[in-house]
Order: sequence, then structure tokens, then C-alpha cells
Amino acid sequence: MIQAAIISTGDELTTGRTTDTNAGFIADRLLGLGIDVVAVLTVGDRPERLRWAWSEALRLAEVVIATGGLGPTADDLTTETVAALLGRPLVHDAAVAERIRELFRLFNRPMPENNLKQAAFPEGAVIVPNPLGTAPGYRMEVGSAEDRRHLVVLPGVPREMKPMLTETVLPWLAELAGAARVGHRTFQTFGISESGLDEVIAGIPGEGRWSFRANFPEVSVRVVVRGDDVERRLEAFGREVYARLGQYIYGEGDTSMERVVGALLAARGVTVAFAESCTGGLVSHRLTNVPGSSAYYRGGVNAYANAVKEALLGVPSALLEAEGAVSEAVAGAMAEGARRALGSDLAVGVTGIAGPDGGTAEKPVGTVCFGLAAADRPTVTRRYQLWGNREWVKLLASQIALDWVRRHLLALPLLEIGPRGAGPAEAKRESVAPS
Ligand code: AMP
Ligand code: MG
Repeated sequence: MIQAAIISTGDELTTGRTTDTNAGFIADRLLGLGIDVVAVLTVGDRPERLRWAWSEALRLAEVVIATGGLGPTADDLTTETVAALLGRPLVHDAAVAERIRELFRLFNRPMPENNLKQAAFPEGAVIVPNPLGTAPGYRMEVGSAEDRRHLVVLPGVPREMKPMLTETVLPWLAELAGAARVGHRTFQTFGISESGLDEVIAGIPGEGRWSFRANFPEVSVRVVVRGDDVERRLEAFGREVYARLGQYIYGEGDTSMERVVGALLAARGVTVAFAESCTGGLVSHRLTNVPGSSAYYRGGVNAYANAVKEALLGVPSALLEAEGAVSEAVAGAMAEGARRALGSDLAVGVTGIAGPDGGTAEKPVGTVCFGLAAADRPTVTRRYQLWGNREWVKLLASQIALDWVRRHLLALPLLEIGPRGAGPAEAKRESVAPS
């Protein structure tokens, strides 16, 4: 398996003025080719630090991809440093110089002489064209046949770097990596913790590399398979994953809970409505972010005050008094009221305590109750203890409301949330290092 290192260059990155988005973009594309990224090194615009990063990267990995430091100014040092490190002279490329001159003529601007610095390359470099800027990138091969290293140098501006990577560098790397023999699948899950997933996945036989990504409140699992028979092996992994985790997997690849729920409602011809208290309309907001939601979304009642729960949803005041606004009974009555008022096939009610205030010993912050009302079946209710700050409780509650619709339509069991579910341990970890 080919290993790669990524170098991100620039004082703006080490001082925190700019967030390094290039490394993540490149890493994701390399993973898609089955190339293993062993390190991402970030250094400022200093020759000795650049030299350190390049020496380390070349020691660690067969492929090194660097961005930044290709500008015309004195602080852009990548090319000089790489040439010096490899002991190669700089060679002036007349064609590139002419293109830079032409670009300036085109914009009717005088060209500062230092722009021609961008037409100098280490000897042996192959130009990577830059359709959107003046500085082209380049790639080089160094070392002996037994100890080959491949270097790629690209500009730092993301808008320029991305097409250069996608159009020129990736096809070349794909050939190098034999990308035809690599494949991957990403499963999107909700309602089970990363460690819970890990435990289940660990028992799946077969050779594949699994990785997890927690993006509150969801966790995605990716499997990468290399070698022969990639398609068949991915199929086999898929079957095992669904057999063990089926109810938690709401989709694959680039999707979201609201899109999946929207597609399900559309396919079944079922309409939905929501009665929201603590989520303040978030459930409706998320579902109406899906294009085409008018086909199944009837509307929502944002019933924050008890008076609104009574007046618009017909929740009996005696019930509110006896059980409290945050109770399974009220969540159920809210769902039934929304279904009645809005004329939907299905309705979900959500009421809870998002915090930071308002919790009691009996109903602490994070207590959220749900109700689902549908035709021809009794209303279902449940109380969950959620976690995190106000924003998290709202987001998690909205996710649960959507997942309830999904589970209802697919006749799956009711969501269970415990320490093994999308558990508190996960929440703590995430709150320290949000992804
Ligand atoms: P450079 O090629 O070093 O002249 O970079 C030009 C500009 O690209 C910088 O001023 C940053 O705004 C941006 N940039 C450079 N490196 C990165 C990176 N790793 N991620 C995001 N933006 C970057
Ligand atoms: Mg720079």
C-alpha cells in the first residue's frame, strides 16, 4: 500500500489566521485511492522549518504532497528549499514565464519582475498546470528504482489547488496506486456510539480497513478494501454490516438523516407534521431543507408556551398540570393535536428541557419526551435522557424526531438510547474535540 505525507506551508497556518483546509481535502482524495496518509506536517515560511518538514516527509512516505509557498513574494520559499534539499539546480521555464507575462497583459497590468520567480523549477520537474492562477505546480520523481519518492508541489490557494489536484495529480496517483483495485463504502449511523460500533465491526471477518468519524450526533463508518475482487468483498462487508447494525444505518455515502427521511416519506406517499416545544422548529427546519419537501411536509406547530400547546394543539390543561409540560403524556397529546390540526398521516411531538436552567431532580436538564401519532395504531411515547449543552440537546432531539419517522416507516424497533447508545462517553469526547 502506498503511503503519503502532506505538507501545509505558510505562516498564516501556524499563526491560526487561516485554517488548513487543503490537507483535509487532499487526505480525503488520497484515501479514495487507497493511499495511506501517514502524516500531515504544517510549517511556517522559514527555510529551516521547510527543510525539516520535507526531510521528515521524504523519510516517512513514498508520496509527498505539499501546498503553499509558491507565491511570487520573498516569503514563498518552497521551490528554493526543495531544490536545495534535493541538490538540484533551478531551471527557468520559458513557456511558463511567457504565460505569466500573457496573464498580466490580459489584465492590463504591469508585471512585477518577481513574478518570474514562479517560472523557476527544480531540474526534472514536470509542470502541473494551474488553470486559475499564475503559479503552476509541479511533480518530481527522485531516488533510485528501489527507493523511489514522488513529490507534488501545489499552490496554497484552495480554489487553485483543488482543480490541479483533481484534474492532473489524482489521475497520475491513481495509476501509481493501481486505484482500480481499491474501493470503499461509508455507512451513516445514528443511535449507537463509536465504541459500540467498533465492538460490532471488530467481529466482521475479512480484510478491510475500518475508520470511524463522529460528527455529533452521528457516526459514520468507512471500510476500505484493497486487492483483488474489491466489489465482491465490499458486498460481503455490506451484508455483514447490515445484519449486525441494520436499524442504526440510515444511509450510505454523502447523505443526511433529513434527506433519507424525506425520500422515505416521498416514496411511501406519507405526509408528516411536527409539534415542537424545546426544538423550537428545528425539526421542521431540517426537513424543509430537503428540496421537494412540499410533497410530504404538512407543517409544524411551534408550541413553546403551555397556552399554545392548549390552544393550537388541544393539549388538555389538566394533563399539563398533572404530568407537567415535559412528559410522555403531553408529547403524545402534542403529536395527536398536530396530526388533527394539520391533517397529516403522521405527526411527532417533542417536549423537553434543553437547559441550562429549568431542570429538577425528577426531570433534569436533557430530559426530552417524544410522541408519535399515526392512523390505525395507538400513539407511541418515550422519555429519553439526553446530554450536552442547550444546542446539543436541541440538535439531538431533532435527530431523534426524524429518526422516529424513519423507524416508523421502516417498521424498525423504537430507538433505545443508553450508555451504549449514542452514549454520554461519546458526548464528552466530542465536547473536548469537536470534529
Ligand atoms: P501561498 O501559495 O503560500 O502563497 O498561499 C496563498 C494563500 O492560500 C494563503 O494566503 C492562504 O490564504 C491560502 N492557503 C495557503 N495554504 C492553505 C491551506 N493549507 N489551507 C487553506 N488555505 C490555504
Ligand atoms: Mg504562503
